[in-house]
Amino acid sequence: MAQDYDPQNIFARILRGEIPNDTVLETEHSLAFRDIQPQAPEHVLVIPKGPYITYDQFALEASDAEILDFTRAIGQVCRMLGVQPGNGGDGYRMIANAGRAGVQEVQHLHVHLLGGRALGRMLQPLQ
Ligand code: 5GP
Repeated sequence: MAQDYDPQNIFARILRGEIPNDTVLETEHSLAFRDIQPQAPEHVLVIPKGPYITYDQFALEASDAEILDFTRAIGQVCRMLGVQPGNGGDGYRMIANAGRAGVQEVQHLHVHLLGGRALGRMLQPLQ
């Protein structure tokens, strides 16, 4: 069963301006801001402004305009942070945690963009 969106989640409150954030980029449908507990020298969260919880839901239910805006915002933030490989950047990792197994803490879709250091392997191999 689809999860209900909780309008009191922390990112909904950031979008309403109830909680301050360190904005990197704001577009018509998306907001990018620095993670409060950075795990790399560059750690930015990119979120859609619409009430989506997971990436799969967003990919299937968001409008073309929202998907285009969100995707372009992610690309733009990579350029702004200077982490894109080539042109001086050394690479980055993009993570979208979803649900219990994905250990999603905040129930509003967000993509983590991490860079500025060697990030190690993504996961431990099975066994
Ligand atoms: P998740 O585990 O849901 O993928 O990650 C949630 C992220 O949101 C964590 O990295 C956490 O540090 C970040 N976070 C939680 N609360 C706040 C907040 O109030 N402001 C900001 N900027 N980041 C937050």
